[in-house]
Amino acid sequence: MINNFKKIEQKWQKKWEQTKAFEVSEKSKKLKYYVLEMFPYPSGRGLHMGHAWNYTIGDILARFKIMSGFNVLHPMGYDALGLPAENAAIEDKTSPQDYTNASIKNYIKQQKALGLSYDWSRMVSSADPDYYKWDQWIFFQMLKKGLAYQKQSSVNWCSKCNTVLANEQVHDGKCWRHEDTDVETKNLKQWFLKTTAYADELYEEIDNLKDWPERTKIMQKHWIGKSNGTEIDFEIEGKKWPIFTTRPDTIYGVTFTVISAQHEKLFDLVTAKQKKDVEKFLKKIKSVEAHKGVPSKKSKEGKKELENLEKEGIFTGSYAINPMTKEKIPIYAGNFVVADYGSGMVMAVPAHDQRDFEFAKKYKIKIKQVIEGKIATFKAYTGSGKLINSKQFNGMDNEKAKQEITKFLIKNKLGKIKVQFKLRDWGISRQRYWGTPIPIIHCEKCGAVPVPEKDLPVKLPKEVKFGKGNPLETNEKWLNVKCPQCGGKGRREAETMDTFANSSWYFLRYCDPKNDKQIFDKKKVSYWCPVDSYVGGAEHACMHLIYFRFYTKFLADLGLLNFREPVKRLFHQGMLHAEGGEKMSKSKGNVVLPETVSDEYGIDTARFFLCSLASPDKDIDWSKEGIIGSLRFINKIFEYFEKVKLGKSTVKVKEKLNQSIVKITDYFENFKYRKATIELRELFNLIFKESENSKVVLEKFLKLLNPICPHITEELWEDLKNKDLLSTSDWPKAEKSKLKSKEKKVDLNEKYSNYVKDIIQRVESKGKEVKKVYLYVLPFEIEKINEKKLKQKLNKDLKIYSVKDLKKVDPENKSKKARPGLPGVYLE
Ligand SMILES: [Zn+2]
Ligand SMILES: [Zn+2]
Repeated sequence: MINNFKKIEQKWQKKWEQTKAFEVSEKSKKLKYYVLEMFPYPSGRGLHMGHAWNYTIGDILARFKIMSGFNVLHPMGYDALGLPAENAAIEDKTSPQDYTNASIKNYIKQQKALGLSYDWSRMVSSADPDYYKWDQWIFFQMLKKGLAYQKQSSVNWCSKCNTVLANEQVHDGKCWRHEDTDVETKNLKQWFLKTTAYADELYEEIDNLKDWPERTKIMQKHWIGKSNGTEIDFEIEGKKWPIFTTRPDTIYGVTFTVISAQHEKLFDLVTAKQKKDVEKFLKKIKSVEAHKGVPSKKSKEGKKELENLEKEGIFTGSYAINPMTKEKIPIYAGNFVVADYGSGMVMAVPAHDQRDFEFAKKYKIKIKQVIEGKIATFKAYTGSGKLINSKQFNGMDNEKAKQEITKFLIKNKLGKIKVQFKLRDWGISRQRYWGTPIPIIHCEKCGAVPVPEKDLPVKLPKEVKFGKGNPLETNEKWLNVKCPQCGGKGRREAETMDTFANSSWYFLRYCDPKNDKQIFDKKKVSYWCPVDSYVGGAEHACMHLIYFRFYTKFLADLGLLNFREPVKRLFHQGMLHAEGGEKMSKSKGNVVLPETVSDEYGIDTARFFLCSLASPDKDIDWSKEGIIGSLRFINKIFEYFEKVKLGKSTVKVKEKLNQSIVKITDYFENFKYRKATIELRELFNLIFKESENSKVVLEKFLKLLNPICPHITEELWEDLKNKDLLSTSDWPKAEKSKLKSKEKKVDLNEKYSNYVKDIIQRVESKGKEVKKVYLYVLPFEIEKINEKKLKQKLNKDLKIYSVKDLKKVDPENKSKKARPGLPGVYLE
């Protein structure tokens, strides 16, 4: 029985730290391997067992890779800037700096107590000016390339966060942090990063991310939303208005167009006669938007109601000319068209698009069929078929017509081929304090002027007032500076960057965390990166996991990286819930703390238990009963090692050990931790049956268990009189001869009997009778031959000798003919 897990845990944690067991350098001759878990936001509440589980998943892989002979980079850091810290600090009446520093300190203490194999010398915190200096530096590089820019636009605003949100941070119309808060739109001047400049590469390279979860890849593709289509020039009041479509084959069936109700040029198209109606309509949809918060997300009727509400429109009074038919078609304003997708206007083909069909029915607009098929009273025909009512294209298959009509449009300068993306540029301005200051000085004469690079970092001022508006606007001394260009009156940009900017490149900084001359040493990064395995939550699919791909591509284009994708393999961990399946939360009082677990069961027991529940990508529930089962197993191991007699192991144990090595190696490599626990239990149950076992067998068992239970295996390894650390020892290799011995036995017996039968047959066909067979076998083959079976197969009296047997009967010296797999044969 172990009665003091904590003592053992602390002993080995101290040893790992003292010996710098997990500190690595790029000078190693081994192959590198980079294991990374998404760096946490350090909350004042500290870690609970759910967080601990996330890091453990990466830790098991890292430990396995270290033992497998890799030079493993496994770092940890803190995504320390951001709104939650600012809000918590205000609540605690402390400063965000003090709050964050205390939280980080506590996190480190807790993570160290979990025995995680981090190289702590590489720790980074995004709240450190030496870190966010490089956020500002990257911003400059983007500014130089025209990829960072400021523009007035309608943006998402959360009234609870009191700041702007990126499109990626609006989920179903709500703030990503506040599920109960509708996102409003505001028209503000904002800083953007031009993610769209990389839209095509971000989209196309998704297919090459072979080891990424399929669902995440689909979500990214959907978010980036690439479509190949045709841009067709309609004419409005004598001016060209291009409209993007993926259905140029239906151009003859376009009977109206719809412009976004939010479009800035909407009122250019509204006639005096229609003005009142349009204004009334806009008011109405605004109240509908506000109403959107009422139906719950989960209620089906609520969803349906929303969908119905979405098909609203109003005639603007203006007309467009269909370039193919030259018909005048009405322009409607609608709330289902996105203002900044394409030109903010769509062409409508009611005969072949259900939404357009319903809209046309509602507003009594002409429906013109252009593809053969059945149109019902309530249904458009959306299938394929031959073109009709389309002049020279009649009779053509509609897929072919897409190309032919596009060709015709291009030839007549009425349109062009166009690729359209749903992805929008990333709005990074935040009107809050606890973020990276945007390093810009506004000057009345010169406009927005970058802070000179030598003056970086622009640090956050300590003296600010929280509570009303943007805290950075409350420090006049900080705000008022000279314009770096003309020396005149300047004013600092008071906005800070979205914290997702901080996390877009942190994995690179771990490779060279203390560099104060450059963002990182290119050589060091090219040694360690890309990340080989990245562990983190699936909720980041369309946020962090897109942003950091974008940053990587940009930094590669600056010549700083020799790769264009940050991560080879991505793994999403499942969630650990409290007992009974509920989310762990302080208010429910069901939070499991690692400290308590360490006291009662030991961290290793908890690690073994969590691994044994399910594959680590599945959600699991904490269970007291379950962990007691694991505790029993761990204690059984301890008790056994205390009394086992060192000597020989049985063949059975050795064979099982070999099989286990092969299997467990594969399981750790592929995050199949549950299977590893099952195999470990099976193996141990065999070992346990013997009161005597060889030291080698016991040591190999400890090695196999070490990635999951690092502390107790170190302890038992030391008890076996080992002086080095188990955690950095070599992973056991399976002995191939033992592994295949069973198969070889079968094979060799088969081979022998066929060979000998052949010889007997040849002799007997000449009329001689064979009474007895003598076989001469190479020494290493003799134990693999089953004499009894062979005798049955040959149906003769049989005698087998090793070729080295001095007492053998060999009148014709046939033993010399023995070869591997083939015996020498003498027949009597
Ligand atoms: Zn919010
Ligand atoms: Zn100036």
